[in-house]
Amino acid sequence: MKPAGLAAVLLLLAGCGDATTEYKTSEYVFGTLVEVTVRGVAEEKARAAVAAVSEGFRRMHKDWHAWKPGGELMTLNAACKTGAAVTLSDFTLDQIKAAKTYYAQSDGLFDAAVGEIVGAWGFHADEPPKGRIPPLATIRALAAAHPGMDDIHIDGHTVTCANPAAGLDFGGFAKGAAVDWALAEMKKRGIANAVISAGGNVGAMGSHGDRPWRIGIRDPKKWGVIASVDLEPDESVYTSGNYERFREWEGVRYSHIIDPRTGMPVDHILSTTVIAENGSLADAASTALTVAGMRDWPRIAKRMGITRVLMVDDSGTIAASPDMAKRLIFPEGQKPNLVIRPIE
Ligand code: AMP
Ligand code: MG
Repeated sequence: MKPAGLAAVLLLLAGCGDATTEYKTSEYVFGTLVEVTVRGVAEEKARAAVAAVSEGFRRMHKDWHAWKPGGELMTLNAACKTGAAVTLSDFTLDQIKAAKTYYAQSDGLFDAAVGEIVGAWGFHADEPPKGRIPPLATIRALAAAHPGMDDIHIDGHTVTCANPAAGLDFGGFAKGAAVDWALAEMKKRGIANAVISAGGNVGAMGSHGDRPWRIGIRDPKKWGVIASVDLEPDESVYTSGNYERFREWEGVRYSHIIDPRTGMPVDHILSTTVIAENGSLADAASTALTVAGMRDWPRIAKRMGITRVLMVDDSGTIAASPDMAKRLIFPEGQKPNLVIRPIE
């Protein structure tokens, strides 16, 4: 459980405006604080929409849980061990298809089938683990079995999993998928202006009255924001950070983001922020680019169709794509040295 104050992206909503036109709620779901802000409709309408969204979040939380049994993903994960076929809902099936696309686009760096490895590192628990790390032979053996989204086969509503080392874990893109769904659901209910922050990952639609939604991107090294961005009406901003979930042993930090090629946690990258219209894609890309690292991220961004990226590493380098650099608003007198990297 992460204190809300450590959210990767801080919502900077100067609280002016007519109180009757802004409705805000927050709840704890997906292991994080989810805050919904709706503007410009009567409170009753906002309340009903937020209740429907909240029910959807709870359903996804259960169905997509990576380690608590009772949901669809855990049923599929059990079937990876036996090769049995399972029947899944359209909604979960759509996410598996998206995860297969992200896997292919990212050259396998975004791999929602690495759940067994994430679990072996101890991250399938409410609290990050403490103490000695798992035997690296176990980790290497799992990685050598190459769990990948190609092991998941879909035939209509029937899904099979061909690799006992595979286990689905939607942690890398579930917030994005859930927030996209929630914004679409609110739109259907006549809401045009809303923002949802899931642990600091933000999806927006419309505007904050007569100005855009302004979102702060957390500085991964110290308290505060590194920069802010004004979101276009339907943009999302997602950040992957090694500070979100990690364990430490003998002075080394092991993060929850796994390089599927080795099974080892990604090091050196502190955070990666992506802005895109599709929140699920932005979420997946922020994870994939973190795995790609400082050298390879422009290539993977290009393959994934991403143009706005900000990456911070542990040597102090802050790199941005040209389209992201244009959008960054730095705190007064705090413009860092930015390394501009074209997407190629
Ligand atoms: P995020 O904070 O969006 O980068 O998501 C991190 C979460 O994604 C982890 O806690 C794991 O549940 C999962 N994950 C870890 N490594 C990968 C990977 N290489 N590809 C996809 N999901 C991953
Ligand atoms: Mg992600």
